[in-house]
This record gives sequence, structure tokens and C-alpha cells, in this order.
Amino acid sequence: MHSSQIPVAVLGATGSVGQRFISLLDNHPWFKVVALAASDRSVGQRYSDACHWVLNEPMPEYARDMTVVPATTESAQAKIVFSALPNEIAKDLEPQFAQAGAAVCSNASSYRRAEDVPLLLPEVNADHIYLVKEQRKNRGWSGCITTNPNCTSTGLTVALKALDDAFGVKKVFAVSLQALSGAGYPGVSSLDIIDNVIPNIGNGSEEEKVEWEPRKMLGKLNKNKIDLADIKFSAQANRVAVIDGHIVCVSVELEKSVEPEAAIQALSNYAIPESARELPSSPRPVIEVREEADRPQPRLDRLTGKGMTTVVGRLRRDPLLDLKFVVLSHNTIRGAAGGSIYNAELLVNENLL
Ligand code: NAP
Repeated sequence: MHSSQIPVAVLGATGSVGQRFISLLDNHPWFKVVALAASDRSVGQRYSDACHWVLNEPMPEYARDMTVVPATTESAQAKIVFSALPNEIAKDLEPQFAQAGAAVCSNASSYRRAEDVPLLLPEVNADHIYLVKEQRKNRGWSGCITTNPNCTSTGLTVALKALDDAFGVKKVFAVSLQALSGAGYPGVSSLDIIDNVIPNIGNGSEEEKVEWEPRKMLGKLNKNKIDLADIKFSAQANRVAVIDGHIVCVSVELEKSVEPEAAIQALSNYAIPESARELPSSPRPVIEVREEADRPQPRLDRLTGKGMTTVVGRLRRDPLLDLKFVVLSHNTIRGAAGGSIYNAELLVNENLL
């Protein structure tokens, strides 16, 4: 199956996450982009005319002359559909694609909480992908919807998984410093963000997501549903004037108190599920632990492992809980487009397309 390329479409192809899809899918060994879809604003234009390209790397040649099509099942036909649509649009459109037989790999939050929809980080909970069987049974779809978490939950959850497996996590206090690309394009106005830090991202919805989504991903697949992990979260989310890469400052209480060195070992040696290990987008390494006192930093460390690695640093004792540390994850690569592509690779590898 891997030798013949699988046709894929990108919905929301002109946006902040859409552009990452276009870039990461260039020369993908398994997938071939056959349709780029966006809103009425862009439909009918060449991709290079419709899209205000913001990535450092040049727009891939394959995309430049493609004509942007409407995000409908007739116009964007493909076996896998990557969705970078705004949530309210995704809510209506994604089920239509799943009904029409496509495997939708979504960045939107619309279906993350649905009981029969997997919320996936393959290096954390690859087995949750089997929820798509339940989903197909419940909804009568030949396709499916899989989701990846909010970009701030992503690196946080990977680090917590390694600590939870080794020591058991009871409480998490997390404060984020989130990059501008996480707000989409054009996003936050320059007069608002330069010389500034803006709290309360998404009117509280970001903090709610960070307090809930890791519990689903760290939960256990119990027959046809996920039992949420019994971990208490408190989160505060802030936007900062960084282009890419979300930092989260984390304090944790563990089931048993451990030395920082033991936690560093657990993070460095974390063994990811076998089915998620050898896929084209598997993070290499999965977690990198930095020893310098002033790392990770977004500009220096966000492209570790081609932007798929979770970078952890400053791991030390916490006077209030047990341990504290800093996590960095690339929000539009591991936290969005790269994550969806990794999910799609897992679907292919598990014969669930
Ligand atoms: P964005 O930059 O605002 O891009 C939105 C995209 O959706 C554009 O391509 C836009 O096309 C298209 N679109 C808007 N309305 C549409 C409609 N009615 N029909 C079809 N296409 C439509 O947003 P983004 O930051 O890329 O985010 C996309 C999704 O990913 C959101 O659900 C977001 O919450 C989620 N997400 C983002 C990040 C991140 O780091 N940015 C991380 C995780 C998840 P036009 O250009 O034609 O308007």
C-alpha cells in the first residue's frame, strides 16, 4: 500500500495551519495532494495568488498552480482529508466528508470531545485510534474523523505521559506563552502584541482545552470509550510576540515523590507505542531534554526533530508541588499540520483507511 501514493486534500489550505500542510506534504512518501480548498474568498484562484505565504521556506512548486476549490465533497475528493478549517465551519463540513468515505484528520476542536472520536497524539495514545471502528458503527460512516489536540496541550501531554507512566501524575499547574501563528493569519494585530503579552486566549476557551484535552489523551481505552485520566489541571494561557513555538511552564504533583534526575531519565527514555515508532512523521527523538539553564527557547529549539520533537528543560524541584519544568512544542508542526499527518500515517499503518 505504501508504494502507491494515497490522494489527499487540504481544507483551509491558505491559512496558518494550511500552509504548513502544503509545506510538510511536499514529497511525502505516502501522500499526494490532489485538492486544495478554502473559502469563497480564494476559490477559483491559483494557490499562489490566493495565499499570503508566511513560512520561511518557499511555497512548494506542486502547489503554486493548483486552483483553489470549494470545501465540498464534490470538489475536494480524496481518501484522506486534512482539515485546517475554523471550528464552526469544520463542525458542518467534516461529517459530510466522513459520510462520503474520507478519513478526516482535523485540527479543529469541533469533535475532540465526542466520545467516539479519537483525540490523538500517536506517541502518547496510538491505541485510541481504534475508536474509529466504534464511530463507523455508531454513525454509519465509511470514512471517519480523527482529531489532534489544541497546540498547547500537545507538548504538555507528551511530557506528562512519560512522567505518568513512570511515577503517576496527580496534579498539573500550567502557564503557557503561546506564539502568534497559533492565532491564525492575519491573527493578532501588531499594535496589540508588540511590547505586550495578552492573557485570556480565546476568552477562556484555550485554558478549558488545556485543562480537559490531556485527560482524554492520558485516559484509557475501555472497550468502546475513553475513561478520562484522573488528573487535576489548572491552566493559564498567554499570547506572546513569538512567531512559532509554544512554551508551557509546568508544575506537577506525582503519586510518589522522585528526584529530578529520575524524572529526566523517564523523559529521555520514554518508549512510544510500537505502532507509532516508524512512521514517516514519527518524532526523532520523541522528547529531547535540554540541560542548559536557559533552554528551551522557541527560536533556538522549535525545529528540533523537524519540529515534531517535544523539548523539555529546566527540570527541577518545585517547592509547592513535586517537580517543575518548561516544555516547548512547535505549534503549527507538531501541534497542528505535522500532528494531523502523523495521525493519517497511523490510520494507514493500522489499515483503518
Ligand atoms: P486561519 O489562518 O484563519 O485559516 C483558516 C483557513 O480556513 C483559511 O484557509 C480560510 O480560507 C479557510 N476558511 C475560512 N472559512 C471557510 C469556509 N467557510 N469554507 C472553507 N474554508 C474556509 O486559521 P488556522 O490558524 O490555520 O487554524 C485552522 C484550524 O486549526 C482552526 O480550527 C484552529 O483552531 C486549528 N488549530 C490551529 C493551530 C495553530 O497553531 N494555528 C493549532 C492547532 C489547531 P480563506 O483564506 O479563503 O479565507
